[in-house]
Amino acid sequence: MRRSDDDTDASLRIPLRGGDEDASGDEEATSQAGGRRWLLTIVVAISLVGLGLLLGMRAPVDGECDRFPGNEGSPVPPPGARRIPGRLNVHIVPHTHDDVGWLKTVDQYFSGANASIQQADVRRIISSVVDELSKDPKRTFVYAEMAFFSRWWREQDASTRANVRALVVDGRLSFVNGGWCMHDEATAHFADMVQQTALGHEFIRANFGVEALPRVGWQLDPFGHSAVQATHLGSGVGLEAVFFGRADRDDVRTRIETGAMEFTWRGSESLGVKHDVKGFILSKHGNYGPPPGMCYDVVCGDDVRWQVSSS
Ligand SMILES: [Zn+2]
Repeated sequence: MRRSDDDTDASLRIPLRGGDEDASGDEEATSQAGGRRWLLTIVVAISLVGLGLLLGMRAPVDGECDRFPGNEGSPVPPPGARRIPGRLNVHIVPHTHDDVGWLKTVDQYFSGANASIQQADVRRIISSVVDELSKDPKRTFVYAEMAFFSRWWREQDASTRANVRALVVDGRLSFVNGGWCMHDEATAHFADMVQQTALGHEFIRANFGVEALPRVGWQLDPFGHSAVQATHLGSGVGLEAVFFGRADRDDVRTRIETGAMEFTWRGSESLGVKHDVKGFILSKHGNYGPPPGMCYDVVCGDDVRWQVSSS
């Protein structure tokens, strides 16, 4: 995403799609008080997982909603050039959140094993995302956890790697956060947070170059947030903003009332303004999931294309 509406607001590189900008959602990040003239930006995080995309390839598709080779339509502007000045721009960010071990082991999550515990198959998520991105230049995706992506990457042939590199250069596949995992902030030692972030970033730098390094933090699932994330692992690693899903419910309620879901996060008074980072809380529901009625994962059923007729 590149925001160009404000001369004090450096661009963020979460890709936004022009076709999505008229969508509505209940995630609102309102402009800060105090006279700043930032246009309101709403970020709606939609969990699209690979299994859904795989089924999508087989599901009946509304011809006006889908684009396919030979029917691409007019050229798609680059990410960041699709904002409509003077309008409330709504951004839908397709992403997934893949725990590097939770109910299943990291191996089981990657391979899809033990689906009776949890339906999660990260190898297929990444493969289907890359396939779908390749079909339509309007599509973008952000990915966070390099423990999985690097593992998937090692399995790919030269042709697929070249395709993925092109998607990254084009801004259609972006790495956010980019650590080995989406680390906890409440109980982890800061040295471990630094180390695992460096490990993931080194994988990105080595395989995609410095231009592909994340500029946006993506801490959707940690329960609670720490100052070191804002300083050393926010602005300290070149991030311009950190998005997170979970926050204290009273804090969220107050922020909604005062229009402060978008804010400036100062992790250190001594480091001061140079280590400020922009913060965004994605959901008034206290999580990273989509708003009601906008979950397009196969496990949700909000997308009528996934619904099987009973007749
Ligand atoms: Zn999680």
